[in-house]
Amino acid sequence: MGEFELIRRYFLPLGERQESRSLILGLGDDCAIQRIPAGRDLVFSVDALVEGVHFPRNYRPDYLGWRALAVAASDLAAMGADPECFTLALTLPVVDEQWLKDFSKGLKAASDAFGLELAGGDTTSGPLALSLQVHGSLEQGAGVRRSGARPGDLIAVSGTLGDAGAALGYLTESAPSADMVAVLERYHHPRPRLDLAQSVRQYASAAIDISDGLLADLGHILAASGVGARIDSARLPLSPALMRLKGVDAVNYALRSGDDYELCLCFSPANWERAPESLKSQLTVIGSVEVEPRLYLDGVDCSVEAVPAGFDHFRSES
Ligand code: ADP
Ligand code: MG
Repeated sequence: MGEFELIRRYFLPLGERQESRSLILGLGDDCAIQRIPAGRDLVFSVDALVEGVHFPRNYRPDYLGWRALAVAASDLAAMGADPECFTLALTLPVVDEQWLKDFSKGLKAASDAFGLELAGGDTTSGPLALSLQVHGSLEQGAGVRRSGARPGDLIAVSGTLGDAGAALGYLTESAPSADMVAVLERYHHPRPRLDLAQSVRQYASAAIDISDGLLADLGHILAASGVGARIDSARLPLSPALMRLKGVDAVNYALRSGDDYELCLCFSPANWERAPESLKSQLTVIGSVEVEPRLYLDGVDCSVEAVPAGFDHFRSES
């Protein structure tokens, strides 16, 4: 099968969504053309994924298709952007039709779920790797940056944390329990919080998606904003499955493991006050932004330079 037949068969069907607002010319020409309506900003980001580094070797191709787009789309949610379209650069060691079929199936499921149309890409041969560029848009000037946190802001997170990180230990489990299946699903099929994007840009002062772990990613907000924070570990949202699987260690997963792709958001007290219940019901307040540029966890300084010894064992595990 030639390159063009491959593209026609497995990728063209992902470029045929009708509801895309901004894509004027999609997959098939030398370039795609996107027209951003007056008064809106284009928001875009690229993510590269390499086999054996960002996903396991021989990873299920349908899972890979979903996960690759989910991870990329999560950055749009963290800016408060609405999804528009994406491009895919795919490097394949061989043309394996079953692999391509399954991969494009997972990718299409994600494309439909997130409202992101495939606008083009590139296909080359070499070690398995993918690069996805996602495009989104929002009202001019409304993009939520990491640098907007102010002392007195509340810190909140969406969903539950730590599940996907715990799943890493069960990837090769031959007979996983129901709880293992539940956390594995969080790893294989992350759900970027695009549903929150509009509220994020309306109410949040700063935002980041949690890909590397809460402490690490909140640390990026604090550094960019020149502030510190206090976090109360007892308030961390933990799933029942994670608590049953990990007991008292669940909180460590929630603090330090990544791959959940939930959002960490800051709100001024006034904005939190006026935010709708439909948003607040999906969030958990876990702490506050402070003037002093340090990160206190349960009153203990755990800024990057001062990680408490009690958490080190987890570091070496992850
Ligand atoms: P060019 O040589 O002009 O860069 P290509 O031959 O690489 O074009 O690609 C032909 C068309 O197919 C282009 O519209 C390109 O965007 C699209 N395309 C190629 N590979 C992929 C892919 N993996 N996913 C989506 N679209 C692709
Ligand atoms: Mg060309």
